[in-house]
Amino acid sequence: MKILVINCGSSSLKYQLFSMANEQVLAKGLVERIGLKGSVLTHQRGAEKYIIEDEIPDHEKAIALVIKAITDPNHGVLKSTDEIAAVGHRVVHGGEDFSGSVLITDEVKESLIRNIELAPLHNPPNIMGIEACQKIMPSLPQVGVFDTAFHQSMPAYAYVYGIPYDYYKKYKIRKYGFHGTSHKYVAERAAVMLKRPLNDLKIITCHLGNGASITAVKNGVSVDTSMGFTPLEGVMMGTRSGDLDPAIVFYLMEKEKWDFQQTNSFLNKQCGVLGLSGVSSDFRDIENAAIEDKNDRAQLALDRFAYAVKKYIGSYAAVLNGADAIVFTAGLGENSSSMRMKICSGLDFMGVKIDPDKNFTRGVEADVSTIDAKTKVFVIPTNEELMIARDTYDICK
Ligand code: AMP
Repeated sequence: MKILVINCGSSSLKYQLFSMANEQVLAKGLVERIGLKGSVLTHQRGAEKYIIEDEIPDHEKAIALVIKAITDPNHGVLKSTDEIAAVGHRVVHGGEDFSGSVLITDEVKESLIRNIELAPLHNPPNIMGIEACQKIMPSLPQVGVFDTAFHQSMPAYAYVYGIPYDYYKKYKIRKYGFHGTSHKYVAERAAVMLKRPLNDLKIITCHLGNGASITAVKNGVSVDTSMGFTPLEGVMMGTRSGDLDPAIVFYLMEKEKWDFQQTNSFLNKQCGVLGLSGVSSDFRDIENAAIEDKNDRAQLALDRFAYAVKKYIGSYAAVLNGADAIVFTAGLGENSSSMRMKICSGLDFMGVKIDPDKNFTRGVEADVSTIDAKTKVFVIPTNEELMIARDTYDICK
């Protein structure tokens, strides 16, 4: 059975084609600059890369080109789309409607459209991707896999905010959490690495990339997570502020005479480690600036980021009453040994001990803690596409 996984952004589309017999990636690629000048599709089959430059005005054309690439007689991997059994789509926001992946029906699509107001930047391109696939491959089942679904298990006391309950009822203002597919995947892998059943474990998963979130996973389900109503809450990120005193927002609006749009853009695009360091939103640049240029603000941004992650780990250790493992994943979590070390230093009270030699690991699954560490520290590369393919397979097999 072959499953096509699609992850649509507003001007980009990532795809992977899986053979589910051995969970092997047959081909993958990326369409960039959809609707803009200079649109391009980069298609990869094994180590071979093909670049196709074309006019790609919309997601429908992007999907058509993806299909053309994977069925191309020279660099494709399929004879026709008849070999594809189903398409799995990443959907950012399922609101309170979905606690798991679902077959896309008209009713599901209506719900996705209703949830646009909760994720105005993300859900519309996700829906465009679904509609384009439905148009081009009408006979294929389409499955939606939600970033929010894994966190629907949070108890009410973890997801409500300290505002009048009426606003939760009226506007659905509550914590939803994101990166759920990633947190779920790495928690499952951690259980395999611990050689213990997931439903008997307490795990703190740290997805540290351009966006970053921390999740407390108890017995295989999310019980709390750092991102909230939107992906702006939680630890400071590449360009997002993360947690701050809400009064700062009104204060800045008044001082800078910003309207709602300017303030929203400021908090999402100009803050985080970019705003603090003044160097970049990319952690590699900031680490370089701190080490090579001895840039104090770059160092401050790294210190502040590590401190924020450590505080969440500490609070989730309290939520879980201890932890069997802490997992690091995503670009920074998988690759930066210095950031892992910085975050984990001073967590010996909860039995965390990193082995500096093992911690040089980059981008591969590894236990980087000492043999006697009570709380293990794992590096686990995330694989959201595989999770989407698995869920799609389970629903459609
Ligand atoms: P992601 O959003 O998961 O793609 O992660 C992107 C972030 O990971 C960027 O801020 C990168 O700078 C960071 N990153 C990737 N590789 C490294 C590395 N080797 N060292 C430090 N940060 C890295």
